[in-house]
Amino acid sequence: MTMTEPATAEPRGDSPDVEHVDVLIVGAGVSGIGAAHHLQEQFPDRSFVILDAQDNRGGTWWTHRYPGVRSDSDLFTYGYRFKPWRGPSIAAGEEILNYLDEVIDQDDLERHIRYHQRVAAASWSTEDRRWTVEVTRGDDGEHLRYTTNFLWMCQGYYNHAKPYQPQWEGMDRFQGLVVHPQQWPEDLDLSGKRVVVIGSGSTASTLIPAIAQEAAHVTMLQRSPSYFLAPPLTHELAITLRQLDIPEDWTHEILRRAYTAQFNELARLAHEAPDELHAFLMESMKPLLPEGFDIEKHFTPRYRPWQQRIAIVPEGDLFAALREGKASIVTDTIDTFTEKGIRVSSGEELEADVVVSATGFNLSVMGDVAFTVDDEPVDFTERVTWRGLMISGIPNMAYVFGYFRHSWTLRVDLVSDLVGRIFAHMEDKGATMVVPTLRPEDAGMQLRPWSDPENFNAGYVMRSQHILFKQGDREPWTHMLEHAQEMEILPKADLDDGSLVYS
Ligand SMILES: Cc1cc2nc3c(=O)[nH]c(=O)nc-3n(C[C@H](O)[C@H](O)[C@H](O)COP(=O)(O)OP(=O)(O)OC[C@H]3O[C@@H](n4cnc5c(N)ncnc54)[C@H](O)[C@@H]3O)c2cc1C
Repeated sequence: MTMTEPATAEPRGDSPDVEHVDVLIVGAGVSGIGAAHHLQEQFPDRSFVILDAQDNRGGTWWTHRYPGVRSDSDLFTYGYRFKPWRGPSIAAGEEILNYLDEVIDQDDLERHIRYHQRVAAASWSTEDRRWTVEVTRGDDGEHLRYTTNFLWMCQGYYNHAKPYQPQWEGMDRFQGLVVHPQQWPEDLDLSGKRVVVIGSGSTASTLIPAIAQEAAHVTMLQRSPSYFLAPPLTHELAITLRQLDIPEDWTHEILRRAYTAQFNELARLAHEAPDELHAFLMESMKPLLPEGFDIEKHFTPRYRPWQQRIAIVPEGDLFAALREGKASIVTDTIDTFTEKGIRVSSGEELEADVVVSATGFNLSVMGDVAFTVDDEPVDFTERVTWRGLMISGIPNMAYVFGYFRHSWTLRVDLVSDLVGRIFAHMEDKGATMVVPTLRPEDAGMQLRPWSDPENFNAGYVMRSQHILFKQGDREPWTHMLEHAQEMEILPKADLDDGSLVYS
């Protein structure tokens, strides 16, 4: 790809309203900000913009501002490779936003970010060797157009505007308030209120300890239990290294390695000895729960550890709320909402002033952007991923999809390195176009669902398999590998194995 445009975008193209950039990044979350950092570092002459539909940076961490919102990954691996993390291992949403702000400041990224800009459509023209990107500006409804040589999709995996809100019988007669954590009302006062939180995952388990002291009582209503782990808020090693005044970038790297090793061991156990891991998780919870607590009923998941994310409760704060009697758990299904609360299948009625529906996301494929390639609409369900980074038959487009079970951001750095290698390779070849293409030896390759339910079967993924692209049965058409594998594979990926066609 020959890149001659200046580093800041300028109006250009068919009409004065069309702005051209070398690279157009969609999304100003952890992925988009990381992608911009790597792009700018490796290719300082390339012009780029970051478009985001929301009115601020942070993606997930801007959308989710409910009480207690925090990471469940450690921030040494959730933080970028290039920017040391200075806080506790598990961080509040606001601390993550502050960290992202520091990256934006250090890299002077703010001038590249355009908020309120929702990408609606992207059309590739082989003749022009560029994408035309149609954008709707959220604050005034204005229609804007960009052209770009390369589209870098950092849009995350779910719809930020529309959370997954199941409709239960009788909801309309409930006299209280129903809220979703994705749309938490800023002024919601829970003091003295009876709250029922529907859900059992990370969101429910972070929200409950955060509101338990203020509310009269919080009930976690779950259909089925999840796995929990209660690590310390900050790794002992981090405390020691900081006490010894070790340089921050060393501490960051050492802790990244420590957490990665811990995680790899967890992954190994999950694959090789799932029963052992199950027993370990159960045993580690026992001493933290109130005496006589029905662990079998409330904390014994029906799936193997690893098939969904393990929820992290630092210092066991969820369990402390249970011990103090500020929170309780009901494991049952919803029969109906009533005027006063929720009746579950056992017949018990859970009275509530506020019901929090921690029911998760609506998955969104590539930010719900309508793609066309040379006037042909792209049907993603017919496409295959190239290393979880590009899509068959779609030229000059990369996407960032992080890890589900490990820190998302570890993959942002890895993917950005590979995109950088592809850019450099194109430059060497004098190519302006790269298209992942099935090779003759891939003909008849068995296509697999986006996520194998045996491997990862979270509800929001299973609900959306039918709209997602596929993976193949061999490299480079696979994705969702473990981080330990990708650390080896991605940096060495052969860019001339015939699966990427350059012109
Ligand atoms: C409460 C919560 C806690 C989490 N904790 C962790 C954790 O501890 N560890 C972990 O690894 N993962 C965690 N995750 C997963 C998390 O989503 C990822 O870690 C990561 O934040 C994803 O970043 P992203 O930039 O790829 O996408 P997002 O954060 O989803 O950001 C994408 C951005 O793209 C924008 N966008 C999307 N489509 C368009 C469009 N068409 N046009 C313009 N803009 C668009 C959106 O507005 C959004 O701002 C958590 C998720 C939630 C909800």
